[in-house]
Amino acid sequence: SDHTLHYPASPAEMDWSIHYPKYFPLRGTSENLDAGPSNSALISKKVEFADVGCGFGGLLMALAPLFPETLMLGLEIRVSVTQFVADKIAALRVQHQQLADGIIPEISVPEGGEAYLAAKEAAPGGYQNVSVIRANAMKFLPNFFEKGQLSKIFFLFPDPHFKARKHKARIISQTLLAEYAYVLRPGGIVYTITDVEDLHLWMVQHLEAFPLFERIADEELAKDVVVEHVRTATEEGKKVERKGGEKYLACYRRLDGPTRP
Ligand code: SAM
Repeated sequence: SDHTLHYPASPAEMDWSIHYPKYFPLRGTSENLDAGPSNSALISKKVEFADVGCGFGGLLMALAPLFPETLMLGLEIRVSVTQFVADKIAALRVQHQQLADGIIPEISVPEGGEAYLAAKEAAPGGYQNVSVIRANAMKFLPNFFEKGQLSKIFFLFPDPHFKARKHKARIISQTLLAEYAYVLRPGGIVYTITDVEDLHLWMVQHLEAFPLFERIADEELAKDVVVEHVRTATEEGKKVERKGGEKYLACYRRLDGPTRP
């Protein structure tokens, strides 16, 4: 349970060098303190995408090479699942560093196919821009992220908590929306998708009722490169696909306006 989770007292306390070593100098090492202007530019880099309840991380792996300069973070409450994602990122980083260095690692996909060609090319960014953290996203989100830090926040196939007495456990609620609005910048986007119609209606109802969010029209979503990955990149999305289930998508823009954590 939560007592084993550690939260930074504030976003400034967060040591991102563990997560994104290419972008943040290690804390407390003198050689990094005066490493020049490029270094201070790196330090100002911030996580911009958060995948809440990222599961096995399929969305993050798909988005990392598409936005190689954008730092993205998965938040996942299950220990073993978080570890799985962390291990996967570490392996991808090594593989892509080897590819970038011209060392061809053993490729485990059949020769000639699309996956083979993709695996032979180092992905832009080499997965240095993606990481995962074990956290209960329903608690202390403003301890990790500053006001207006995020440009995208994802809720993909969240746990439905069907029973009425369990609804308070749902990841979208009036109280939590105030936190999401706080960490999202104006113009930032909340992506929600689920195969559970009742949960979809619940999320829409709460987002509609919250004055700082505005629904994004389907025509605009059709032009958003992220949306197809929201539908298909995660393990849960693939499972729904195999079962031939319906997917309900609803995305909202964070409007300009004041908010408190
Ligand atoms: N988004 C992934 C996908 O589409 O495959 C995973 C979906 S899975 C149904 C929901 C995930 O949310 C689980 O991995 C669960 O452990 C995680 N989760 C549930 N509550 C959470 C919380 N409060 N904070 C962080 N993660 C949570």
